[in-house]
Amino acid sequence: MRVDARRQVGAMPETSEEAVRTAEVETYDDELMEQAHRAAAAWLRSLPERAIPPRMGVDDVADALGRALPETGEPADEVIARLAEQTEPGLIAIGSPRFYGWVIGGTQPVALAADWLVSAWDQNAGLRLITPGAAAVEEIAGEWILDLLGLPSGSDVGFATGATMAQFACLAAARDEVLRRAGWDVEQEGLAGGPRIRWIAGEERHGTMDLAARYAGLGAPTVVASDEQGRIDVDALAAELAAGTGPVIVALQAGNIHSGAFDPFAEACRAAHEAGAWVHVDGAFGLWAAASPRLRHLTAGLADADSWSTDAHKTLSVPYDCGIAIVRDVAAMRRALSMHASYLQATTVGADPHEKVAELSRRARGIPTWAVLRHLGREGLAGLIDRLAGSAKIIADGLRELPGVEVLNEVVFTQVCIALEDDAATEALSTALWEDGEVLAMTSRWHDRAVVRFSVSNWGTDAAQARRTVDAVARVLGELRAGA
Ligand SMILES: *Cc1c(COP(=O)(O)O)cnc(C)c1O
Repeated sequence: MRVDARRQVGAMPETSEEAVRTAEVETYDDELMEQAHRAAAAWLRSLPERAIPPRMGVDDVADALGRALPETGEPADEVIARLAEQTEPGLIAIGSPRFYGWVIGGTQPVALAADWLVSAWDQNAGLRLITPGAAAVEEIAGEWILDLLGLPSGSDVGFATGATMAQFACLAAARDEVLRRAGWDVEQEGLAGGPRIRWIAGEERHGTMDLAARYAGLGAPTVVASDEQGRIDVDALAAELAAGTGPVIVALQAGNIHSGAFDPFAEACRAAHEAGAWVHVDGAFGLWAAASPRLRHLTAGLADADSWSTDAHKTLSVPYDCGIAIVRDVAAMRRALSMHASYLQATTVGADPHEKVAELSRRARGIPTWAVLRHLGREGLAGLIDRLAGSAKIIADGLRELPGVEVLNEVVFTQVCIALEDDAATEALSTALWEDGEVLAMTSRWHDRAVVRFSVSNWGTDAAQARRTVDAVARVLGELRAGA
């Protein structure tokens, strides 16, 4: 029996020929792109001097944009004008050279230019055979990163959305491998009913380590003590390792967000490996210390670990988003993260980019990283890292001289944590800085004290900006004290 498809419930209605014929096929609109370019240039040029905090909140921006869904469309140039004009008051100047609010980088021009090309090329960069141009650039970037950070060549390098998802990719590989060694096939069996994995981390690990572990089904960590700078206590770690049996993962840290401190990798990796553990290092910003001959000593023993996660959108100053997952055991990473399907043209060489991260369809986000590394070279990158750390030192030394200011951490890298005489005064300083707008630094709590944290992570922060930062804090603090 023949079925008339049009009679079936839900069948597609006839399409008029006219509707099919009117698609706009223009692939490039000079004026529109120029308009976006002008808006981008105006924003970027304003960064060094504009007040850093946003001037408007979400509701006001949404009202200005217009909340009603348009029934008929708006010309593209009006959409872009609306976006640029109405959103601007709600933008925060993260790219300011005096933005220290979180470890968040600005954007280097070469990275932005490369990122524009990534968007224009619009490669779904999951498969080597299909997007060879993007794969080639990312593979070179991956090899350079291993070289620059002194990590084992041949490790898998995946470009994820950020350090959190890079941590997840690494933990997925770690989880599957430690369970495999315990005779449990997690790809087949899942986690339920299998041996419980202990994962051990220091008190001052970053919160995203716990988040990534939750994504990976690992639950809460077994926490061991950290010292006064936030470095994991290796004796406590060894004792904890000895206290249990079964599959175990140890998470270490390169760069504490309050102190900048680095865990003692050589000793911690030795203790962990003696107990059969997989060692992961969260080095979202700190891993890059390994690229500076002057600061490399902070990361001694780093290469002894099994996996590492870091960000390019922080220290390397590429636009959001780009994190990097690095795993020594290539087979473990593939087992955890690859999938095969008959319609996907898999490579026969190495791995496809999608097999090293949690995404299948993916932006070629490694390309801006390649551009920054190509632009800076080994020496330029070392110079960038040294500039960030040197600026942190200038800020710490300057702030220490101000009345009532205490620098709480040993400034070994890019982080400076200060406090005033009591929590209320410290918080008042942070609020006053926000209202003033010349310098942005945020409050946090560290060792049960309110602190103001300066995270030096913008490529434009140099000695002059660091001194200007000290002067601005001195001025704001002076005004606060005069008014109090
Ligand atoms: C920023 C940061 C993360 C999380 O990185 P995202 O890119 O925000 O996902 C993890 N660990 C440390 C130490 C960080 O500074």
